[in-house]
Amino acid sequence: MAFGWIEEQDRARREAGLVRVLRPRPAASPLLDLASNDYLGLARHPEVVEGAAAAARTWGGGATGSRLVTGTTALHTELERELADFCGFEAALVFSSGYAANLAAVTALGPHGSLVVSDAGNHASLIDGCRLARGTTQVVGHADPEAVRKALATHDGPAVAVSDTVFSVDGDAAPLVALADACRAHGAGLVVDDAHGLGVLGDGGRGAPQGAGLAGRDDVVVTVTLSKSLGAQGGAVLGPARVIAHLVNAARTFIFDTGLAPAAAGAALAALRLLGREPERAARARAVAAELHARLTAAGLDAVRPDAAVVSVRAPSPEEAVRWAADCRAAGLSVGCFRPPSVPDGISRLRLTARGDLSGEQIERAVRVIGDTRP
Ligand code: PMP
Repeated sequence: MAFGWIEEQDRARREAGLVRVLRPRPAASPLLDLASNDYLGLARHPEVVEGAAAAARTWGGGATGSRLVTGTTALHTELERELADFCGFEAALVFSSGYAANLAAVTALGPHGSLVVSDAGNHASLIDGCRLARGTTQVVGHADPEAVRKALATHDGPAVAVSDTVFSVDGDAAPLVALADACRAHGAGLVVDDAHGLGVLGDGGRGAPQGAGLAGRDDVVVTVTLSKSLGAQGGAVLGPARVIAHLVNAARTFIFDTGLAPAAAGAALAALRLLGREPERAARARAVAAELHARLTAAGLDAVRPDAAVVSVRAPSPEEAVRWAADCRAAGLSVGCFRPPSVPDGISRLRLTARGDLSGEQIERAVRVIGDTRP
């Protein structure tokens, strides 16, 4: 039977308790949300929603074509200019998702004959970028700049190191300065994915690379998503103008993909402007993360100290993690649940988003529910 092997895979997944299911979210959920990536609570901000609506009214429901044909509007170029200026880079290029931006950056900067050095904890989109790149990938230990240095030393020719700035599973930060030093010492480029840093880290949320003093460097390229702290959808690559111009000509997920929907570009632009006016939003998300961690730890839970706005709590097993998340849900709290294969070390976790708009009472309630439902 065609696709007969699916049932076999499915059985194995069921036996391991790792089947995933889709659960549509109601528009007005009664649940307290610590599961989304809406770090600054901007996805429903009236200015962001109006940014989307106004863009759709002006430009229509879709971009109508690839960026190189009809898919570039004034909104796309404005967003690129303002994103680059905000984060401190020469130029930016907007993509239909952060995933596409990562595929673009790694494939276009890891050409045939190059070495791509990738952190073992990197996001799936960077891993897929490595798989698609024509260069040779070497995976190194998590957050280990010395291993990056050693790997780069073995190679003669173009090279690039690739890392998340904040790792999505545990919310820990990469050693960006040491990574950049290792790359510079070997004449290699550094590509970092700031999906979880933009809007949270750096001055007023200008991102982890800006916070680490790497903004505007000619050997550093940053990818971001517009779908987390900016509450919109889409992605971007930021870096030197010559690198961005290269992506326009070489990145397949730019050339062959329909441009970002105008509504998403409008929402992202509105959120970016809002963040520029209200820089305290970033510090608030970090403060919520610190408070959440302190309270979870005080309650005896195994929470990882957060470097940004992701707080991870270890669970004894995948089954118990699923049950724990379901019990939280039944008690009015929505939390993320990470299990294999999304966790490379095999340790399942509840994953909490320290949204900057959570009140002290909501943080307290969340910790109480998580504590009361623990395995
Ligand atoms: N990088 C990281 C670290 C992420 O967590 C995500 C989103 N899960 C992405 C990239 C992909 O971004 P997008 O959702 O915009 O495709």
